[in-house]
Amino acid sequence: MNDYIVRATAADNSIRAFAIRSTEMVEHARNIHDLSPVMTAALGRLLSAGAMMGSMMKGEKDLLTIQYHCDGPAGGMTVSVDGQGNCKGYAVNPHADVPDKYPGKMDVGAAIGGGMLSVSMDLGLREPYSGQVEIQTGEIGDDLAYYFTVSEQTPSAVGLGVKVNTDRTVMQSGGFIIQLMPFASEETISALENALAGLEPVTAMLEKGMTPEDILTHILGDLGLDIFETQEVRFHCDCSKERVSRALSTLSRKDLDDIINDGEEIEVKCFFCNKAYRYDIDDLTAIRALGETGEPAPEEE
Ligand SMILES: [Zn+2]
Repeated sequence: MNDYIVRATAADNSIRAFAIRSTEMVEHARNIHDLSPVMTAALGRLLSAGAMMGSMMKGEKDLLTIQYHCDGPAGGMTVSVDGQGNCKGYAVNPHADVPDKYPGKMDVGAAIGGGMLSVSMDLGLREPYSGQVEIQTGEIGDDLAYYFTVSEQTPSAVGLGVKVNTDRTVMQSGGFIIQLMPFASEETISALENALAGLEPVTAMLEKGMTPEDILTHILGDLGLDIFETQEVRFHCDCSKERVSRALSTLSRKDLDDIINDGEEIEVKCFFCNKAYRYDIDDLTAIRALGETGEPAPEEE
């Protein structure tokens, strides 16, 4: 079964809602990055939320980037999503490990620690939009709910869950985002608060086999839920040897000289998907020239 997002409204458009099944995407991330269980949960939750936030963008070339700059063992995380459901992400320390909160409950908050969460959206405008808030608990959902409320002035509930098997593979992953529009009535707000107050954790709902549609129906079924769109999502990285070359060309002249003088070909891995690209001395000499002039190297005397 493929991963997908459903988008919905409720209470006469005064509630905006999203839910996702992200099991395949998160298992793919775990596999290529060899993530520890707690990092599978951390990056998996951020990928799930990023995919839902990305579906809020309209343009084909729009790009959303969410970053954790944190001081816990995770060291940081980056997730990037386009407007077509293509998601990618990595953790600085993919093997980071922390003791469980209690048996069977991973401590994502302890893996993340404190720091800043930043969200930037390149919507093809002159200035990319960007917002930054302090990490609240490091549990991802809490941090993003705080971000939406403070930075985008949109009170939101964010539920995210990743269930990891004893063999470290991902059993279930998914979540929801529910947002209140400014014109929501007091009745709508209190009905939503009641529905969320008694809600089980997302992992419990996923374990029962609930789909994204089931989760939204469970929360918003009495509030005039209208599911109006389904979008497939996937882990996909658009890197290429040329793109990685451009990143290499921003290295200092000295660093590039050192690499070239070593006389060995080098291997550079894409942060997002771990794909390895090899560069021989000819490649590196061309990259050094590109970094200086943006044009091919002139003949040396
Ligand atoms: Zn890549």
